[in-house]
Amino acid sequence: MSDNEAPSTETLIAQALHFIDEASGAVVPAWQPSTTFARREDAALYGDYSYSRSGSPTVHHLEQMLAKLESGADARIFSSGLAAITCLMETLPTGAHVVAPRVMYHGAKDWLHRLKEKRGLKVTFFDQSDPAGLAGAILPGETKIVWVESPANPTWDVIDIAAAAETAHAAGALIAVDATCAPPVLCQPLKLGADLVFHSATKYLNGHSDVTAGVLITNDASTLWSEIDHLRTYMGSILPPFEGWLLIRGMRTVFLRVERASKNALAIARHFENHPGLESVLYPGLVSHPGHEIAVRQMPGGFGGMLSLLVNGSVDDAAAVMSRLKVFVRATSLGGVESLAEHRYLVEGANSVVPKNLIRLSVGIEAVDDLIADLEQALAE
Ligand SMILES: *Cc1c(COP(=O)(O)O)cnc(C)c1O
Repeated sequence: MSDNEAPSTETLIAQALHFIDEASGAVVPAWQPSTTFARREDAALYGDYSYSRSGSPTVHHLEQMLAKLESGADARIFSSGLAAITCLMETLPTGAHVVAPRVMYHGAKDWLHRLKEKRGLKVTFFDQSDPAGLAGAILPGETKIVWVESPANPTWDVIDIAAAAETAHAAGALIAVDATCAPPVLCQPLKLGADLVFHSATKYLNGHSDVTAGVLITNDASTLWSEIDHLRTYMGSILPPFEGWLLIRGMRTVFLRVERASKNALAIARHFENHPGLESVLYPGLVSHPGHEIAVRQMPGGFGGMLSLLVNGSVDDAAAVMSRLKVFVRATSLGGVESLAEHRYLVEGANSVVPKNLIRLSVGIEAVDDLIADLEQALAE
């Protein structure tokens, strides 16, 4: 096979990077739990590892898969999504300026608020649905990191990543993209000019609701990247090897799962778009969504498995619809093979800017007719 016929990312991920164990012929990378790694008589290490808080073989194999998935230069995996975000923010000096979306994953937003109050971080929140919003929030020469999320929880605002990267770079800032809800099967932010991509790997990358993990992927193993690596070691926030092994297993089917979830979500969004029980359906795959045009360009692999329903009526009407669901599981989180529903306002608390009648759906890989029928009966009363 010549270079220009190299296997596609899809093939390499399904085969865990065409893994074959030299000693046994096994086609599954082994779980290596060792916390420490021996030295030879001359004190040289056997391999690249000395202690598992800085790196280990299973975790390294996983990181190579993650870098491949995003067409990045390198990846670092953490014990949760928030551990990865915390590590990135820890690279900033006191008083640094960060720009982040007004509507974004609420846990990360709460954390930014805390850094603002306790650590002197300066944060400006901007409206991702306004094309001029970002430029107005950046302080040229002062802003260090522009954090964007696309599509953003839970209204699925889509930001033009290429344009945002240009704006950030012109002001001397780095841009990091939370692409948790648009896994690399759908969209590749590094190719659009982003400096860093973040995923809560707890979600689509693992896909089975049984591992908590987070990842940062870079297109340039720069000074900042060495700092991130260094901080992960000191903060002790690397993913343990067993979870790494599970994540390798989960990721082998990521293309299949995300394609099916996207297909199901699009069918549900189209079916319920003009439903009398709903005020609206928010999904970037619908022509009616404000981010649709950008999404068509930016998400060639599909629009993802996340959508929101705005129920006609009050917070109590939304709660009543939730109570009648039988196939969708009432739970937080997203990106698993099972479909989940969540009355978002109830969980976001004080800082929430989410409409009170919004039900967030994470559409799984089940038979779509079962999912549609479940929502129909829940909306019927
Ligand atoms: C879940 C999530 C996070 C946080 O990740 P954890 O793995 O829960 O720590 C960040 N961003 C988005 C969009 C998420 O959905």
